[in-house]
Amino acid sequence: MTVRPTTPDPATGTTAGSARPPALPARWDSLVQDFLADRAALDRVIERFGTPLHLLFPQVFTDNLARLTEVLDAAAVGYRICYAHKVNRSATLVRTAAALRTSVDVASAGELESARQAGFTPDRIEVTGPKGEVFLRTLAGSGVTVNIDNQWELETLAGLARPTAPVPVLLRISGFPDSRPSRFGIPVDSVDRALDVLRASGDRLDFRGLAFHLDTGDIAERLRAAETCFGLLEQAYARDLLPSVLNIGGGLRQVFTADERRFDEYVHRLRDGLSGRGPRMSWGATTFGYQVDGTSVRGTPVFHKYANTVAAEEMLADLLAAPLEGHGGRGIGRVAADNLLEIWLEPGKALADLAGITLARVEFVKESADGSVLVHLDLSRDSVTPADQEVMADPLLLPRYPPAPATTPVGVYLAGRLCLERDLVTAHKIWLPWLPRPGDLVVFPNTAAYHSDLSAAAAAMHPPAHKVAIEWRDGTFRATPDAEFRPTPPGGEPLSPEDS
Ligand SMILES: *Cc1c(COP(=O)(O)O)cnc(C)c1O
Repeated sequence: MTVRPTTPDPATGTTAGSARPPALPARWDSLVQDFLADRAALDRVIERFGTPLHLLFPQVFTDNLARLTEVLDAAAVGYRICYAHKVNRSATLVRTAAALRTSVDVASAGELESARQAGFTPDRIEVTGPKGEVFLRTLAGSGVTVNIDNQWELETLAGLARPTAPVPVLLRISGFPDSRPSRFGIPVDSVDRALDVLRASGDRLDFRGLAFHLDTGDIAERLRAAETCFGLLEQAYARDLLPSVLNIGGGLRQVFTADERRFDEYVHRLRDGLSGRGPRMSWGATTFGYQVDGTSVRGTPVFHKYANTVAAEEMLADLLAAPLEGHGGRGIGRVAADNLLEIWLEPGKALADLAGITLARVEFVKESADGSVLVHLDLSRDSVTPADQEVMADPLLLPRYPPAPATTPVGVYLAGRLCLERDLVTAHKIWLPWLPRPGDLVVFPNTAAYHSDLSAAAAAMHPPAHKVAIEWRDGTFRATPDAEFRPTPPGGEPLSPEDS
């Protein structure tokens, strides 16, 4: 087949937007880059496990955790980090968290079992999310902390709990001033009723404190939530309750892009393509959540989070230090410390940031009726992104047999292996350095958090991608099947999950 080449990138620093193809350069961890550059190590892994393949890098997770704990240590406040298990189903990451002595936030019976097997004891487990009666029965008396979602749950648990084993509980609060509506949590105005139940059930429910979780990158919204919770904690003290925890949830952001300017330039061109002002860069009728009306393109795209450039530790430091108006300008960290409150966090994606990649093989390349080039892969879209998202970070193309051919970039769409029209891995056009050939490898960046596991199904009876942990030890990259992975302390023998 013939494919019209795109004007090559002259790589001479030409002005933005002139000749080089649009791109969404991805951020990669240096350990992951080293692994991909070690072609022998990469080939050994692929030969042993095949493709598609999710690779996890527990050492990157460890580094992410270290950066957050450094901020918390500097804030001089008591804290607890609960790794939000739901971002990734692997044993590798939850066992790594257990060995690093974090706590864990689980949101289902399956995650609870996974956390226990990883070595978490009940005092280091917190259960969030909506829970039915069956699950509440297993939680009562188990020793884990229950983060209460609603009044029914609180009353049901109060009925199930026994004075011989009081259940530690947090109340999740929602409905803060100017926050978007949330389906989770007890509304601020109804906390009174919940406090009454806690007061009346003091022998069975051990009230630990309040919690919120906001799915936003907005610091101001979190500050309003924290301020509201400090006020509600006062109400609790007034009723002789003794809460000692403020749980500020997760939501610390990931950074996907390595080049903000090129990202913006790409999105600009994508919008021009939608409005007809420039060449089309999207498949079919896809609009990515934009409202396209004639030549106007409005709204917030589904992929807005890929534009973030604020690192999680920076966001956390800002959040802890930003002045609270109602507390004489002290920050959350100071107010908590002054009131002997422990800050709990539930980071998920921030801990898994850059700690996983996904490998796929090119099966074949074809041209569709409208002249678009489709590169078919041996995985489906749900292995690298939730359905309603669009991953705006370029994958890496590697030749089946090095060296890479020297040719001009080609604009393509990546197609998945399911016989469904919607199974396009990218619905936006991406430019690859050469026209892929069967057997070439496509590497998706930063897939560990929510991308690889959130919606992956065994559709069309394709088996799901294997998971493999990759570690750099003793001068070489070691690959271990996920189920067999045991964290290795520096210089030591691998821990069995039971002794960690
Ligand atoms: C999903 C979830 C988290 C993790 O959120 P991230 O944005 O991945 O940090 C934390 N807490 C609760 C209650 C959640 O539902």
